[in-house]
Amino acid sequence: MATKPIQFANNGNDFFNELRTQVDAYFTTNKISKNGNWVLWRKTAFALILTPILLVLALNIPAVGIPMPIWGSLLLFVLIGQMHTFTGFNVMHDACHNAFSSKGWVNKLFGNSLGLMGSHAFIWKFKHNTLHHTWTNVDGLDDDIAKAPILRHCESQPFKPYHKNQHLYMFFLYGISIIFWMYANDFMKYFNRAVNEQPMPKMTLSEHLIFWAAKIGYTLLYVVAPLYFLGIGWGFACYMAMQISMGIVLSLVFQLAHAVETTHFENGVEYNMSGERFPNEWAIHQVVTTNNFSTKSAFATWFMGGLNFQIEHHLFPNISHVHYPALNKILVPLCEKYNVKYNEMPTFGYAVRSHIRYMKSLGEAA
Ligand SMILES: [Zn+2]
Repeated sequence: MATKPIQFANNGNDFFNELRTQVDAYFTTNKISKNGNWVLWRKTAFALILTPILLVLALNIPAVGIPMPIWGSLLLFVLIGQMHTFTGFNVMHDACHNAFSSKGWVNKLFGNSLGLMGSHAFIWKFKHNTLHHTWTNVDGLDDDIAKAPILRHCESQPFKPYHKNQHLYMFFLYGISIIFWMYANDFMKYFNRAVNEQPMPKMTLSEHLIFWAAKIGYTLLYVVAPLYFLGIGWGFACYMAMQISMGIVLSLVFQLAHAVETTHFENGVEYNMSGERFPNEWAIHQVVTTNNFSTKSAFATWFMGGLNFQIEHHLFPNISHVHYPALNKILVPLCEKYNVKYNEMPTFGYAVRSHIRYMKSLGEAA
């Protein structure tokens, strides 16, 4: 575990300076804001209005007067899982990066949409904005690859014989990951006041209240209500269907962005002990540790909130995802000019196969 900040290389930052200049010129010339626009507001309305309607229908509440067969409830809970994923990708993620709006209170409000999914924006922001976005794919600092000893994400993590099957059992772990996030990881972080030994900033009273309101509200809506209205067996099945649907898609989208055959990893512990700087400046580190996929698919771009343009997101997390396809047209030629390895895979399926092969290879290497 790193105990002092590691420094990125300081090579003059020519690549990022030129990229930033061109990106700024794009927004100035076209007279558009870097924040979200009507496309984002339309997505937000779609998510926040449709989800409760689906929940009311799925619960088959007699007073509503629209009978729902149990298989219909099950399918609707799978869909609700995807609505939560959609809200997380498009609304919460932009807002937690202050990219949703130019107004701080709007970002805070929509960032707290994570509470509708049972988690806590304050904790997530520290884990994601601070640790993952700064120390992307740095073993010992990036929480997104801190799944050892269950999963081995890079060569610096210790090998265990059972890792030879990790490319298979990881899907089971992805399926139950949201349950662990909501009911184990968040509580560990909350009570330890730290993410992987990195101390979190102090929480205000209102943040404590938001945490508990999210946990209790989510449990009432998505655990107690299905058990009450659908019975214990089907209620539990619907809850699990929602969690598995969300867990697999959410985990895969994050994994495909960083843990594939072409992305770069660093051993944070080693650099911390040696006191040396990383070989790359911050921006180049972000590009080589990240992977774009399905950038030509309009549906992927719409559904994933631009997370298929993950490189643009890592370079400009405070710019709303609705602008990432335009930024991609600026980024790619500059990567060529500065000889920076730009990782892109044509489709979601291609990236999934690469992720499986990558995890399999780490299960073979001792
Ligand atoms: Zn992010």
